[in-house]
Amino acid sequence: MDITKNIALVAHDNMKRDLLEWAAYNRAYLIEHNLFATGTTGKLLEEELDHPVTKLQSGPLGGDQQIGARISEGNIDLLIFFWDPLQTMPHDTDVKALLRIAVVWNVPVACNRASADFLISSILMHEPYLRQLPDHETYKQRSIPRISEKPEEQSPKPITEAVELSPVE
Ligand code: PGA
Repeated sequence: MDITKNIALVAHDNMKRDLLEWAAYNRAYLIEHNLFATGTTGKLLEEELDHPVTKLQSGPLGGDQQIGARISEGNIDLLIFFWDPLQTMPHDTDVKALLRIAVVWNVPVACNRASADFLISSILMHEPYLRQLPDHETYKQRSIPRISEKPEEQSPKPITEAVELSPVE
């Protein structure tokens, strides 16, 4: 990670105000970095900060997945993701996938204002940082049987022990 970081920001509708307030308060720090966001969050941030933000698709239309893809390509250094803990989203699976891929690639994530405060005020924001990348080689080299190979017999496990159930009282 360079001194200038690539920061992705996403906020669900009920959390947008929170994110905008946080971003406005931290404007001086944020504008030193490259900002990326899902569509609506990005539009609002751009207006609030009066600073360019790379806007991807709106979250439910694939924006979360676009950020996830950038994370797996090594192009996002930090994720500020104010997801709504009190509402089910049509793209819940994408939300989960984004949080998951950030963990897979050891990307720092803040999901609320306090965590975001701690991240943005970290001394590491002003320095290059060597983010340890997990070693996924073993996983990538795992053996998968080819169609020419006979898969191992998948017989059901024999029951070796009978279990006596106690009567319900
Ligand atoms: P939005 O998407 O910024 O386009 O509203 C956020 C989300 O719901 O993931």
